[in-house]
Amino acid sequence: MAKKSDPIAIIGGGPAGIHMAYLLSELGFTHIDLYEEKKEVGGRVVTYKHGGTLHELGACWTSPNYKPVHELMYEFGMKPPHIAGSTGRRTLVEAGAVPTEQKEEALLHSAVKYVWHYHENFGKYFEGGTVNWSKVPQKIVDLWQIPFESYLEKMDCLGLKKPFSLMLNAQGCGFIRSIPTYYGLYWITPGVLFGYRFYILDKLLSLLSEETQSSISKFLDYLFKKVHPSVAGMPLIVPQGFQTLFKRMAKHISKKVNICCQTKVQKIVRNDAEIIVSAKKDKAYKYVFSSIPWKNLPSVLIDLNSWESQIVQATKTYSMITALVKAKTTQKSYPNAVVSWLSGLSEKGQGHLYTLRHSKAALDRSKVPIRSKKDQEFVAYQVLDHSVTEKEAEELKKKLLEDLKNIAYLKEIRILKYNVYPQYNQHLEGKDLELLKQLEKNQGYKNSYFIGAGVCFESILNIFDYNQQVLKLFLR
Ligand SMILES: Cc1cc2nc3c(=O)[nH]c(=O)nc-3n(C[C@H](O)[C@H](O)[C@H](O)COP(=O)(O)OP(=O)(O)OC[C@H]3O[C@@H](n4cnc5c(N)ncnc54)[C@H](O)[C@@H]3O)c2cc1C
Repeated sequence: MAKKSDPIAIIGGGPAGIHMAYLLSELGFTHIDLYEEKKEVGGRVVTYKHGGTLHELGACWTSPNYKPVHELMYEFGMKPPHIAGSTGRRTLVEAGAVPTEQKEEALLHSAVKYVWHYHENFGKYFEGGTVNWSKVPQKIVDLWQIPFESYLEKMDCLGLKKPFSLMLNAQGCGFIRSIPTYYGLYWITPGVLFGYRFYILDKLLSLLSEETQSSISKFLDYLFKKVHPSVAGMPLIVPQGFQTLFKRMAKHISKKVNICCQTKVQKIVRNDAEIIVSAKKDKAYKYVFSSIPWKNLPSVLIDLNSWESQIVQATKTYSMITALVKAKTTQKSYPNAVVSWLSGLSEKGQGHLYTLRHSKAALDRSKVPIRSKKDQEFVAYQVLDHSVTEKEAEELKKKLLEDLKNIAYLKEIRILKYNVYPQYNQHLEGKDLELLKQLEKNQGYKNSYFIGAGVCFESILNIFDYNQQVLKLFLR
């Protein structure tokens, strides 16, 4: 049983590390050091202020099921997150593709089927924003492990393949051919699905009589009620900036936790009696909580055991680039504050994909007319299906400029900030997911614990939930 005075090291000042430091300090642990290699805390939550506007260059979305995250926002005096943009709807634009009648029908058919199966296959196991694993039967666990694309095929929803590829990629959540079904269903709730304005769906609905439109709306309402309300959520944006939460949490805990920024942990050695953490100097700890990405771990944790090595080997990563761009548009206006553009999506889901967000319109909830003569600031997301090297990232800048011009109709483009997240997404696929179960059993091996995105998918809600589980294991 851990003593309150035991020395504890937390590696990483991203959401996982800051949240864990907060939980431990609230419980009365008194000797905590948190190491962060960068200048400030937040990790991949990066809110950048420019021209009086906040620009989210890292994570920005929550949803109504992010309750534990929202509760902390309230605790730290922040305003509640709201639906981005004035209409609260986001627009998906698939560049260049004119849908045929057949595609339109397939889309509607698939959308209804998707919502219909959602409750049975996912919604009913999802309680209060998290999955109650003890209630999930093995056949559902097996279903959750198949690639999301196979799930869509199995449920006769393949009409959604393209829009879903786009939605997941634009949000940086992965590729439908490889992410497990659990992950796909987690991200694309029926609420998210209908929160997006599919131009095909809109076009189709507008062709129908008012009476038919109204009965379809009633049917969709019925489907929504069938689904657990907590998962029928829309993407929400944090008006004061997501990073503010982590900065405020850090300030609050700094009275009890020693936060060492600009201090990279170089080496961790786990001996029987103590763990030596080498940063600017060596220091001995009783416990370590690490949020170091798996792929970087072997160079830091020198005595990886066999299952830890297996996770490192099995973890797949790909990159994400975000850019703050200043430009004029050649259009009179965009349909909404947040637009997802698709560029050259191949059958395999490769290509460059973007979400273009007008930060001011999204954050202020005001309608900002986008006049062609005026400079505007946008955040563009570029998602890749592999890990990029620094050299490739420079090449991709050219591609970004080209696509912003040709696909997003921007001109006189200047890139003000260019952020590369080489290991944006770390995930396990198929049967390798079992390794996470094994990890849960082995948490605490040699008094070390693994937390953060690498162990529980890329969502801050999951990270907070997982921290609570790890804490229980730590305190047992
Ligand atoms: C562009 C983008 C958009 C995203 N959108 C969303 C979203 O809308 N909603 C959502 O929920 N999630 C989103 N995510 C995912 C979310 O940002 C991550 O899941 C989350 O930040 C992971 O938290 P973490 O603490 O595990 O890791 P990180 O945020 O990566 O933090 C890890 C920290 O550890 C530090 N570190 C690493 N190694 C060392 C070392 N050896 N010594 C000292 N410090 C070290 C790093 O500098 C970093 O600050 C997005 C991510 C990106 C990049």
